[in-house]
Amino acid sequence: MNAEIIAIGSELLTPHRTDTNSLYLTEQLNNLGVDVVLKSVVGDDPARLTEAIRDGWKRSDLVMTSGGLGPTEDDVTRDAASEALGRPLHLQQDLVSQIRARFRSRGMEMPEINARQAKVLQGAEILPNPTGTAPGQFIGEPGKMLILLPGPPRELRPMFEQSCLPRLRKLLPAVFLRRKVLRLTGITESAAEERIAPIFTSYTNPATTILATLGELQIHLMSHGREEADAQARLEELSSRLVPALGDHVFSTNGDPMESVVARMLTDRNATLAVAESCTGGLLAERLTSVPGSSVFFLGGVVCYSNEWKQRWLDVPADTIERHGAVSELVARLLAEAVRSRAGSTYGVSITGIAGPGGATTAKPVGLVFIGLAGPKASRVIERRCIGERGTIRWQATQAALDLLRRSLEASRSG
Ligand code: AMP
Ligand code: MG
Repeated sequence: MNAEIIAIGSELLTPHRTDTNSLYLTEQLNNLGVDVVLKSVVGDDPARLTEAIRDGWKRSDLVMTSGGLGPTEDDVTRDAASEALGRPLHLQQDLVSQIRARFRSRGMEMPEINARQAKVLQGAEILPNPTGTAPGQFIGEPGKMLILLPGPPRELRPMFEQSCLPRLRKLLPAVFLRRKVLRLTGITESAAEERIAPIFTSYTNPATTILATLGELQIHLMSHGREEADAQARLEELSSRLVPALGDHVFSTNGDPMESVVARMLTDRNATLAVAESCTGGLLAERLTSVPGSSVFFLGGVVCYSNEWKQRWLDVPADTIERHGAVSELVARLLAEAVRSRAGSTYGVSITGIAGPGGATTAKPVGLVFIGLAGPKASRVIERRCIGERGTIRWQATQAALDLLRRSLEASRSG
């Protein structure tokens, strides 16, 4: 079963309004096991809308529209649907009375133009609107459905849940959906694709999607089955083949973010952590302390932004900064070791880098970041070239720092 959604309204073609209804409807349809294969946004233009509905009716099993069911001239969905399907509209008197009664209950007379909202497509069922005047319409034939819903989200949602959902459940076979998200870092989208495409392309169920953001890659798996256990088993089977192929780039298989993964590892090992941050200005501490229960392992952090603070609070000699620069491997190492020893923590992590847009030299470009990790056995420093603007560079730097800690905690367990 596939579906398409048509969001109707000229305002949705401006930068000022976003089509959020289709996100809601997509989630609802996915939960019913229906794939949304196409979404479009059409202005209040009768000809274009007729064409869009006609095309949708031809190519998709289910067409859902939102918007254009109001009483005014620019509400053209009913007429366009009638034209597209070649089905006349009939004015339904009992509906007119209901709309009139709704106005009366609020102490108003119904403006005559509202009678338009009682025009119903031949063969359509009426979907009552508990929160507004525009009723929805539902045409359900074997293998073909058209559903017209109102635009305001506070009308569309209750109508969908109260009137559409029961009808769809009756018409659609019962399907169970399961999702799994693998989260990775330190690998590019194309490198990941190269490793796993030979595996996942042989499966249509689950469906696999790779999503890249800066500093992180997500692999979304979605399976369906007639039984819940079947859907779950399909998911586990594919994921058990993908994870080994991706190796230690995978930091989470249950959707947890990096900071939660690191938090759990530190907690499990009874280890503590202190951080020294220069270019990230506290972002690493913020991510770690956003995890509930972080007080168990997180002792604190120093935002050592100026050279003076690197010297005064973290004991980096002035001549070291002068000779190597504040953004250097050696300074990163000294910061990590100093914060560890001052805090008395199991681990110390430091970040020093050039977040931009200024401050770069030919030897030290924007995005150059050194991350230090001092532990009970040894210290190490990694160098990263982050890309993007200031905010994303800072984010990637914290991601790399958390990943360095994760990998070393992993190694200390197995080593
Ligand atoms: P309509 O049913 O076309 O009269 O829509 C009325 C109002 O609903 C619009 O002015 C928007 O504020 C809102 N609306 C319409 N379509 C959408 C949509 N796809 N997503 C979110 N809001 C919408
Ligand atoms: Mg509109």
